[in-house]
Amino acid sequence: MKNSHTDMYIFLDIDGVFIKEDKLGEQTSLDEDVPTIDAACVEHFADIVTQYEQVKIVISSSWQEAFDLSIIKSRFPDSVSCKIEGVTPILTEPAEFFRHQEVLDYLAMTQATDQPWVAIDDIAEHYPPDVPIVVTNPYEGFDRIAALRLHNFLKAASTKN
Ligand SMILES: [Mg+2]
Repeated sequence: MKNSHTDMYIFLDIDGVFIKEDKLGEQTSLDEDVPTIDAACVEHFADIVTQYEQVKIVISSSWQEAFDLSIIKSRFPDSVSCKIEGVTPILTEPAEFFRHQEVLDYLAMTQATDQPWVAIDDIAEHYPPDVPIVVTNPYEGFDRIAALRLHNFLKAASTKN
């Protein structure tokens, strides 16, 4: 078993990744109803992450301001939710690339700054251009192309060191 000790972090957005853009805002009462995530998108994601024991998932989404982690987890199949470790901290100061800063803060908080990570987001501009990110098309969500990109990243990261 090589490098089974190394964690690989996935910082995961939800809207535009597991909820397609044209479905956003379809639910009527925002406070009470947790939006339903797209089953096909989650399946593509689960197919990849379940192949890597070392994957730890951290939610990096505005969902974390609206819902408890347990509720967010309950939207995912067990094979994925068991890998969801937490949510990124909310910034106290503005940052140019706020999601990226939240990722850095999370890694620092958990003493994991030396671990490989990749972000999944439909908005590339949340991150500086030189960081690993799988950008989804918000109208397609996490599709085959995104799955292939994530797989390539995890494969490379798991054979490094
Ligand atoms: Mg998004």
